[in-house]
Amino acid sequence: MSENTIALVTGANKGIGFEIAAGLGALGWTVGVGARNEVLREEAVAKLRAAGADAFGVPLDVTDDASVTAAARLIEDRAGRLDVLVNNAGVTGGMPQAPTEVDPATVRIAVETNVIGVIRVTNAMLPLLRRSPSPRIVNMSSTVGSLTLQSDLAAVIGPLSAAYSPSKSFLNAVTIQYAKELRDTNILINAACPGFVATDLNNFRGTRTPEEGAAIAIKLATLPDNGPTGSFFDDSGVVPW
Ligand code: NAP
Repeated sequence: MSENTIALVTGANKGIGFEIAAGLGALGWTVGVGARNEVLREEAVAKLRAAGADAFGVPLDVTDDASVTAAARLIEDRAGRLDVLVNNAGVTGGMPQAPTEVDPATVRIAVETNVIGVIRVTNAMLPLLRRSPSPRIVNMSSTVGSLTLQSDLAAVIGPLSAAYSPSKSFLNAVTIQYAKELRDTNILINAACPGFVATDLNNFRGTRTPEEGAAIAIKLATLPDNGPTGSFFDDSGVVPW
């Protein structure tokens, strides 16, 4: 990586995304803090800067074409390229999600943010990533999206879910398709699971800290040029798709 590495983290105003931004900032990287709420975004940027990071705000709603296009333009104007994209923004879509009682709107929200949002942001940023000597894309997934783990019907892999878990399975499948298309390029794209982390997403029921949850994304963001692509990792290693 060049010294002046530029990263964008989506959903970086809080939770795991904030800690990913903090971790990348601590490496001396310039970090775009992608967030849709202006006040929360600027508070996060101020906190990161106070800790010594070269952070800047990127207004970004991953479900909105115009917002994503404007974010790409902002990064182009500021840096001319992007080295690392961490697609971290995510939602559960709301509860309940048991398949027999779920509101289809809940499924739609989860897929719109967790899958289509990732595709929208990735494709908008790809022209900038292609200008990087060592581009990396990290998609924040979850072991609840692992069809291998979920297909053991007796296993409890998160709550019953027709929205959030399948949206992460969909994201995993999309990650593989990107890796296939990009396999003859220098772009490495992988999925990450942060573990069960105490954040707003689960009403702080998680058992890990956001800093612990950020570690795997930071590892995948800093992979060497001969690193893996098209794989799924948590802190323990490869997660089955
Ligand atoms: P969180 O604290 O709720 O943070 C989610 C972030 O995503 C927030 O910054 C949120 O912004 C942002 N976001 C949601 N919709 C967005 C949109 N349309 N445009 C832009 N930003 C949007 O949750 P978290 O636990 O840190 O989750 C981060 C990622 O890790 C997610 O992809 C999640 O699925 C994944 N993950 C989490 C766990 C866990 O145990 N926590 C486990 C596995 C995977 P606002 O503040 O504006 O809502």
